[in-house]
Amino acid sequence: MKNTDYLQRSLNSVWHPCSQMKQFETLPLVPIARGNGMWLYDFEGRRYLDAISSWWVNLFGHCNPRINAALKDQLDQLEHVILAGFTHAPVIELSERLAALTGLGHCFYGSDGASATEIALKMSFHYWRNSGQPEKTRFISLQNGYHGETIGALSVTDVALFKDTYAPLLRQSTQVPTPDWRHAEAGESPRAFATRCAGAVRAHLEQHHATTAAFIVEPLVQGAAGMGMYDAEYLRLARALCDEFKVHLIADEIAVGFGRTGTMFACEQAGIRPDFMCLSKGISGGYLPLSAVLTTDTVFQAFYHDETAKGFLHSHSYTGNALACRAALATLDIFEQDKVIETNRGRADFMNRATQPLRDHPKVRNFRQTGMIWAFEVESATPHFSRAFYQLALQQELLLRPMGNTVYFMPPYIISHEEIEFLVAGTLKTLEQLC
Ligand SMILES: *Cc1c(COP(=O)(O)O)cnc(C)c1O
Repeated sequence: MKNTDYLQRSLNSVWHPCSQMKQFETLPLVPIARGNGMWLYDFEGRRYLDAISSWWVNLFGHCNPRINAALKDQLDQLEHVILAGFTHAPVIELSERLAALTGLGHCFYGSDGASATEIALKMSFHYWRNSGQPEKTRFISLQNGYHGETIGALSVTDVALFKDTYAPLLRQSTQVPTPDWRHAEAGESPRAFATRCAGAVRAHLEQHHATTAAFIVEPLVQGAAGMGMYDAEYLRLARALCDEFKVHLIADEIAVGFGRTGTMFACEQAGIRPDFMCLSKGISGGYLPLSAVLTTDTVFQAFYHDETAKGFLHSHSYTGNALACRAALATLDIFEQDKVIETNRGRADFMNRATQPLRDHPKVRNFRQTGMIWAFEVESATPHFSRAFYQLALQQELLLRPMGNTVYFMPPYIISHEEIEFLVAGTLKTLEQLC
């Protein structure tokens, strides 16, 4: 088989995500035959370094032998069983381990990030209703925040390109100023800016706490906003404000969970525990669709009742899928066995040194890093910069997918020193061609 055998068939039958399909008239699809570690291979021997973890999901490389072995073992025992009224070992073990890691002891499952957001929003509202405060129906979120694109999740997302078209379908929510330090005043420190932004949350809650159910945030890094990074102080202040005004704090750790910001979960860096934590993406190592919403005993107890309708009746067919849970367990095993959080520190240090030429590049602005995420803006007059960069990077054997003029690296945690150098050299060459 050749690449070209697949291109037209895919365009005829597959509706590709996050894309204007007509653009593929001039932007060829990349058919992938197989993956191995950091690398993706097409049908004709070309290879691409997956520097964005296949949309932020892959943690330990493609076709990881340990995750593969766990899945093969699970396949011969149980692929899936209804989770209403039934249970199984992988879902129990995963829930216990996630509880131990987050301090949140009750785990509800979904199959993708957006559905985790939906579950958290519904649970928060329902908690208040069960607790005699049905007027708490409103949500607040951060300006430029991203929480998924189903209708409820899109209501708290604030990315115009994804949201504006569907505005008539969405529920109103309030966006408070983002603490992303790219928006700070000249000379204002990220921490001072974060503190100032938290003031706006206080002002909002002072007026609207009685009707507000929850505040949903992406802790430390706003991914879809172009890897906007902010000071952990903001999360501490948000937690205190939510306590003071009796509003839930929902931590959307879908992109930042599982080591991405340098700690297992980003909330740890602020020393806070949210009322709900949404997890997905890296949860299964990038293998299978799975999400989880973790919550507190207090929330759980408000649903525990003789009356059926007080329970959380949300259901979806593949809840707690055994294969996906087993992939998640194998992923957690790797974190433990390889001391990943620790070894990533050395990897990040190496990457920080290796990326110095990018930091120093005359066209690069706001070079920043949190854990295993690096990002910068490129000053360039090139029209359709992100697309042009993407195409030129492919010629350097790099899968990079800028958002607007923001280039970012979000590699799997197995990237070697040689691969880091390869990534930086290819990025510099791509910049040379564009600037
Ligand atoms: C990707 C993402 C989502 C949505 O997850 P999907 O699995 O794509 O629905 C929600 N929140 C954040 C922070 C994300 O990065």
